[in-house]
Amino acid sequence: MDLNRGNNPNNGKKPEGERPKGSYFTPLMIALILVLLFSWIMNTVEKSQYTETTMSDFFEAKNSGQLAEVELRYDRILYMTKEEAAKDPSRQKACYTGLPSGGDMLALERELIAEGVTVNNQIVEDNSMIMMILSYAIMIGAMFLLMNMLTKRMGGDGIMGGMGKSKAKVYMEKQTGVTFKDVAGQDEAKESLQEIIDFLHNPQKYTAIGAKLPKGALLVGSPGTGKTLLAKAVAGEANVPFFSISGSDFVEMFVGMGASRVRDLFQQAAKVAPCIIFIDEIDAVGRSRDSRYGSNSEQEQTLNQLLSEIDGFEPSKGIVCLAATNRPEILDKALLRPGRFDRRIIVDRPNLQGRLDTLKVHTRKIKLSEDVDLRKIAQATAGAVGADLANLVNEAALRAVRMGRQAVNQEDLLVSFETVIAGTEKKNTVLTDMEKRLVAYHEVGHALIAALEKHSQPVSKITIVPHTSGALGYTMQMPEEEKFLSTADELRTELRTLVGGRAAEQVVFGIQTTGASNDIQRATSLARNMVTQYGMSEKFGLMSTASVQNQYLDGQAYMDCSQETAAEVDKEVMRLLDGAYTDAKRILTENRQLLDEISEFLLVKETITGDELMAYVNADKNALPAPEQGEE
Ligand code: ADP
Ligand code: ZN
Repeated sequence: MDLNRGNNPNNGKKPEGERPKGSYFTPLMIALILVLLFSWIMNTVEKSQYTETTMSDFFEAKNSGQLAEVELRYDRILYMTKEEAAKDPSRQKACYTGLPSGGDMLALERELIAEGVTVNNQIVEDNSMIMMILSYAIMIGAMFLLMNMLTKRMGGDGIMGGMGKSKAKVYMEKQTGVTFKDVAGQDEAKESLQEIIDFLHNPQKYTAIGAKLPKGALLVGSPGTGKTLLAKAVAGEANVPFFSISGSDFVEMFVGMGASRVRDLFQQAAKVAPCIIFIDEIDAVGRSRDSRYGSNSEQEQTLNQLLSEIDGFEPSKGIVCLAATNRPEILDKALLRPGRFDRRIIVDRPNLQGRLDTLKVHTRKIKLSEDVDLRKIAQATAGAVGADLANLVNEAALRAVRMGRQAVNQEDLLVSFETVIAGTEKKNTVLTDMEKRLVAYHEVGHALIAALEKHSQPVSKITIVPHTSGALGYTMQMPEEEKFLSTADELRTELRTLVGGRAAEQVVFGIQTTGASNDIQRATSLARNMVTQYGMSEKFGLMSTASVQNQYLDGQAYMDCSQETAAEVDKEVMRLLDGAYTDAKRILTENRQLLDEISEFLLVKETITGDELMAYVNADKNALPAPEQGEE
């Protein structure tokens, strides 16, 4: 039972770029070492089976006719004396010795045969030297293939091929194919980036005057606002290669890996400069080195390497480093020093026009039917980021295909808006009649208060069709225009609207349900913000008791006041909520007839529009006293 709004997590995908060729050197080396090791082990094992003797022992045995069996190898003679053979018949050739130097092996063989010794000449038989070299070569080859396969499987070029190389995770695109035309809105960001593009086109123009160009710029904004897209567009506009790597890729299992990745990345980039290096999620490596955010030595090493690389390259070379983050406040100050990422480019959530443009960009290649009104969709999606909108358009297109239509119509867009923002309509949830009544009254409770109050945003839709997000119904409010400021009156109205659902349950049925939990959370956090940050409570006046730390992530505020004050704040928040709840109950009681009528209507129709709601309210309005603007 939600009021509308909320946004989806970023679902932008990182396209697979061109991956540089893996190195074959390391797997080859490893294969070689393995084979050598193997043959050494074999050798030792073989040696341990035999007793090493001297050349004179051998000739002594030969001359005294003690030899039973001899095997001539290219590097040694294996032999067995009659005595040994008698002791242990299962053993063969129990002794070995080297070859007689300069000796004629064939003559030796003939001599032995003449003496009645069994001779097995490996040298003559199979050219063992060549055979051995050949078999070693085959073994090395097989090992190499195996190693190569193994390392491939272990992710990209893998542990072996990529030892200390960033090759495994760096994506290089010679041409991104993305230009500023593909990035809707974000005019200020584009303007700031324009200079970088110009610089990449024509570095001499800048160096001639002696101007130093920024080596890096930091793109700051919530996930899905198009930071990656902007960086790619810069590369596309400047027509230079685009290297991208994510900060989290630097953070490796092995100490020192991250640093070597950084080194390698800049080396690769230097080869093809001018180019753009894009580091996504730079906060993963660039986190402040003081221990407050829990850094570690590996991350510190990586960061130090990054800093020294950035300082190291000549600006005139034409490497520009762009980095993205949604938590600029945790970045190490050293990264933000002049000459490093000293430019900060804010990539905001799009406003109405921005959203409209984003929708236009993403519907460029999609067949739209005539009834489509993108402006309406843009109005409904306040707070959504570019990635949400891209997703919405795609969902709409998929739905159109599912429905067997040739073009996307407005309904597709509206329905997929609900999919993206509020989860898909759950057709098979069966509510009992009583539950349905409760949900209907709850939603009308929200809607009616919003409709009756002066400072509220108009209701555009009320529904009791359940959604997979868990909401059993919701009331959607749509601002008529983009708003950046809210007045205290508007916020108080919002509070009353939020608790209106619970108030309706209480007024009509005298019960309280779990369906209001989300409303209560939102109302509480709004009330808390009013007290702690907006200076809208009587008790604390203009005193701020909390400060926002992660402005671009979750906007969460932390209390920065004494324990006693915090307790007082809680009381004040409670007072605000109580006041809003009392007001809501009063408004609904005073308009009980209207509440019943609209709820019954909603129960039948399941979904009603804002216009239908207003028709009821307006028909009734003259008969009713104007609702008071109650203070808390
Ligand atoms: P971020 O890097 O900020 O998390 P991305 O750049 O990866 O966000 O955006 C994800 C996707 O959202 C993009 O591929 C694009 O399709 C869409 N998108 C985001 N912002 C915009 C925009 N301003 N204009 C057009 N499309 C956008
Ligand atoms: Zn609700």
